Amino acid sequence: MLSLKLIIFLVLTGLAVYAFVHALSKKIRILTLGAKENRFDNPRKRLKNFIVNVLLQGKMLREFYGYIHLFIFWGFIFIALGEIPFMVEGLFPSVHVPLLGTSPYFYLIKDILSTLVFVGLIIGVIRRWIVKPKRLYRTPEAAIIVILIFLVIITEWLTSGAKVVLDANSAYNLAFIYHLFAGLYQGYSAETLSVIIEICWWTHVLIILGFLVYIPNSKHMHLLASPFNGYFATLKPAGGQVPAMDLLDEKVTEYGVGRIENFTWKQLLDCFSCGECGRCMDNCPANISGKPLNPKKLLSRELKDHLLEKGAEMTKLGLKSTAHLTDEDFRKIAKEDRECAEILQKHLIGDIFTRDELWSCTTCSACQTLCPVSNEHVNKIIDMRRYEVMNENNYAPELQLAFRNVESKYNPWGVSWSERAGWAKDLDIPVMKTAENPEYLFWVGCAGSFDNRAKKVSVATAKILKAAGVNFAILGREEKCCGDFARRAGNEYLFQFMAKENVGILNNYGVKKIITTCPHCFNTLKNEYPELGGNYEVIHHTQFINQLIGEGKLKLNKDVRLPEQRIVYHDSCYLGRYQQEYDAPRALFNKIPGVQLVEMDRNHDKSFCCGAGGSRMWMEENLGDRINNLRVEQALSKDPQAIGANCPYCITMLEDGVKDKAKPERNVHVVDPAELIAKMI
Ligand code: SF4
Ligand code: SF4
Repeated sequence: MLSLKLIIFLVLTGLAVYAFVHALSKKIRILTLGAKENRFDNPRKRLKNFIVNVLLQGKMLREFYGYIHLFIFWGFIFIALGEIPFMVEGLFPSVHVPLLGTSPYFYLIKDILSTLVFVGLIIGVIRRWIVKPKRLYRTPEAAIIVILIFLVIITEWLTSGAKVVLDANSAYNLAFIYHLFAGLYQGYSAETLSVIIEICWWTHVLIILGFLVYIPNSKHMHLLASPFNGYFATLKPAGGQVPAMDLLDEKVTEYGVGRIENFTWKQLLDCFSCGECGRCMDNCPANISGKPLNPKKLLSRELKDHLLEKGAEMTKLGLKSTAHLTDEDFRKIAKEDRECAEILQKHLIGDIFTRDELWSCTTCSACQTLCPVSNEHVNKIIDMRRYEVMNENNYAPELQLAFRNVESKYNPWGVSWSERAGWAKDLDIPVMKTAENPEYLFWVGCAGSFDNRAKKVSVATAKILKAAGVNFAILGREEKCCGDFARRAGNEYLFQFMAKENVGILNNYGVKKIITTCPHCFNTLKNEYPELGGNYEVIHHTQFINQLIGEGKLKLNKDVRLPEQRIVYHDSCYLGRYQQEYDAPRALFNKIPGVQLVEMDRNHDKSFCCGAGGSRMWMEENLGDRINNLRVEQALSKDPQAIGANCPYCITMLEDGVKDKAKPERNVHVVDPAELIAKMI
């Protein structure tokens, strides 16, 4: 016959499990509103990512607190495993679950990890509520989870300590914490201990069941969602994650994402996976410079809250989309439930997310590179920009000018396309049309062709290529804007138009290998053209020059003495985070006698954007501080004579920042390593 204790336990557990499954299934139904996306390919690679980034918390370990999180994660797994013998023995004292309930080593490991969790929580509490870093929210939800975890651990220790005194279980022999707590009960009678065990056991059970119900109904849903997010994380290269749109599909009535349900299910899963750690906002140049965009708020508040409210209404009404609903439909819904109709009519941009937020993003990718749960922020921004540009025709007038320039002159500067090879005048550089089987194409890019400062890098690179005897040519007038800025600005029409034009020309010449000085062109040619039929081996000029020196094809003149200078190096987003190339430019600077290369505080994949990416180069910066000025201030704090860079956009932005922030007498300049190398040949 079932004991009363067992009946109460089963009833409570049944209710908690029901509430858990109910809440979880609601969330899953909401996720299924998202558009289709195949994230089930390549299970082996996904499993590897899962092991590295979920089980081993690889991305977390970049910070000291990540190690604490790792202990908490594994501590939790062992605490959860320990619940099995704890519950079973509480109900059936004579039954010991094999291994978990009988192995002293299991309890030893669990004790060690529980202690680390306990200490980690204390550090977490001090950090969040006493140190108060801006990136962590101090919400009641955050406090509740900490209290619950403390209570889970303490009630288990109190129960097990009493059990050690009452009935020495050999499995507890190595459980030092249990023995420590047992010390509290010395001299207690068996009856008293039994009562204590019952009270603590039930308290523990109620907390665990409360936990079960609380998790899927709170922000701590990320505990359940983020492991899946880790498994389904993108496998594409960092620079190739913006999918090409099918612009010929006549069934498509809305481009981009203007409604939450138009995001893919994985993009929606990101919202549930955000653990609100704040790493993204801490490294977001838009947020740091005082603009309204905050990538953490975007996912964990704006998009998630809207997803929950709209998703709940849509699933209630059995709607898969709200795109087809007419005013009449909304009137009918409003008659029944006005609030529901209002929620269904909300648009992402304007109602949930402001246009200022949307256009503040530089697509620097710091947020998603550093996000420990593999959230993907940048595509969401680009999807929403696509909606604004392609459906609503709603974007900054400066962008309109840049778009028009590309349409008519094939470059955003608006200089006549016939001037494209003007920088190469008198340099005797072969042009594809007349060159004989060039091995390499030097893709100059719009900046390298039209911007006076960037032209100097083009000239330096061409001189180096010639000195090394590289068989190369340029496209000259046939080269057109690669389309990078148009794509990041959401103008997929323009991007695809330019890309297809370029791919046609490149394929016509049978181009296989491309050298470029612009990381934006590099990324587009290498990672985005393949989807449109252009497959090339693309190399950044800093990589190529290193290669030439390494192979002995480029000899540096040791007699040339450049002035001694301290150069602080700036990693560009599109060569660094997008291509993971951090070494080549540094290696070049280090080859130059007299150069002392120093690092910024924010370097490598934590580098701080110059402010030009994501089409921001072509927009006014009216909100907050200027991002380029902040970056220059960071550079100047290292007391350099020069700032080293590898991207024409960065060079422009940093030079502007130097004009604003550096005293003229300091004579700080911005330099690409190719410019110094060219002086040594
Ligand atoms: S891509 Fe860069 S600017 Fe945009 S939200 Fe992420 S960190 Fe901020
Ligand atoms: S999006 Fe990622 S990095 Fe940003 S707060 Fe959420 S979990 Fe942290």
